[in-house]
Amino acid sequence: MTTLKAVRGTRDLLPPETALWNRIETVARSVFARYNFGEIRTPVFEDTALFARGVGEETDIVSKEMYTWEDRARAQSEKPQSLTLRPENTAGVVRAYIEHNLGQTGELQKLYYIGPQFRRERPQKGRYRQFSQIGAEVIGPASAGSESPLRDAEVLEMLATLLDELGITGWTLHINSVGSAADRVRYNETLREALVPLAPKMCVDCQRRAVTNPLRVLDCKVPEDQPIIDTLPRIADSLDEASLAHFAAVTAALDAAGVPYTRNHRLVRGLDYYTRTTFEFTHGGLGAQNALLGGGRYDGLSEAIGGPKAPGIGFAMGEDRLVLTLQALEAAAPPRADAYVAPLGESLNPAALALARELRRAGLTVELGEGGFRLKKSFDAADKTARRIVILGEDELQSGILTVKDFATSTQTKVPRAELAAFLAAPAEGKGHK
Ligand code: ATP
Ligand code: MG
Repeated sequence: MTTLKAVRGTRDLLPPETALWNRIETVARSVFARYNFGEIRTPVFEDTALFARGVGEETDIVSKEMYTWEDRARAQSEKPQSLTLRPENTAGVVRAYIEHNLGQTGELQKLYYIGPQFRRERPQKGRYRQFSQIGAEVIGPASAGSESPLRDAEVLEMLATLLDELGITGWTLHINSVGSAADRVRYNETLREALVPLAPKMCVDCQRRAVTNPLRVLDCKVPEDQPIIDTLPRIADSLDEASLAHFAAVTAALDAAGVPYTRNHRLVRGLDYYTRTTFEFTHGGLGAQNALLGGGRYDGLSEAIGGPKAPGIGFAMGEDRLVLTLQALEAAAPPRADAYVAPLGESLNPAALALARELRRAGLTVELGEGGFRLKKSFDAADKTARRIVILGEDELQSGILTVKDFATSTQTKVPRAELAAFLAAPAEGKGHK
């Protein structure tokens, strides 16, 4: 008998890696809670029509990536229903919003989800057929402020905070505006005309998109097509006054909050119902699959699937890609303890235990050394395991002023004991991270 294996594009997650998955989910839940989001869990399969209408027939997802089947009819009179494993979760959340009349409260709904999604794509590093997304949506009646550019900026600021708290350094936020539905129609026509002489020189997918949905040409990843795409007209020149003002307000709020971003004129995203703000966070460590997450505003989505007007904005993070990024960062700079407490002489061991207890209770990760070690040995042990060494000799104990050496910067600082925990909690510079 042939041995059975996990299906192509699916994987088993085993310990110790699952600990990293759990850590990511714990940090995400804690950040979502601080921004007052609640969790939603929608079914893993839905009526196929939801994705056809909610994601868009012409998208890659719906046209070629979905796992769809006809469910067996229960009675002769019943028609078999077409069902699909969810390829993304926004359509399901908006369906649930409509089905449970969540708009009736008159308040914004702030919902997050964590769970598996399914797309029949060519498996490669960072791209699987079953993968996990962590996402969130802010949706509600316009009277609740759901169209406000402040919502967009708040979601982006939350994402910057979440990535920072995960320890993912070095991300880039790309942002753009695809304008209103009318702006997009206008831009699609501009593109269609511009593509007539160019499309024959492009890949087969682009030749098709140039006719069916010219906007999608901007998503093309074929290297030879990139110089051609760079010459195409920009969507920014097709935006009306209101869309321009909305985008300017989003970037002004990001500037005020100190969230860095770059304008990417080609960022249009894969859902047909995106309006106005679109964004992506990328990371250099991911290689070809460099998008950590993507999202945008979808002011027309609820109506497209038969609901009331309910503007919204949301995102989905690729959890598999967060794991890959963290693994790469941690391999390059293994996590270190916040401090190594080094007693100078065995007689200071008890006082060192008391100091370590104080710091650990303040939430710091602390290695406790041994007073019997020579100073050189303490320094070597500390340099291997911690970001800083705290030296506790008789003088320090009496004066209450401790000497702290930072290994990344090689700086030595005198810190009063009462301020030590706060000093050590400050982010690492350079070498290593928590
Ligand atoms: P990509 O350009 O990488 O195909 P996408 O535009 O299809 O991404 P979205 O549909 O917006 O992505 O999904 C949001 C995020 O989910 C992506 O940024 C990525 O991190 C992750 N993701 C999407 N498809 C996959 C997949 N097949 N395997 C793993 N992660 C994925
Ligand atoms: Mg994709």
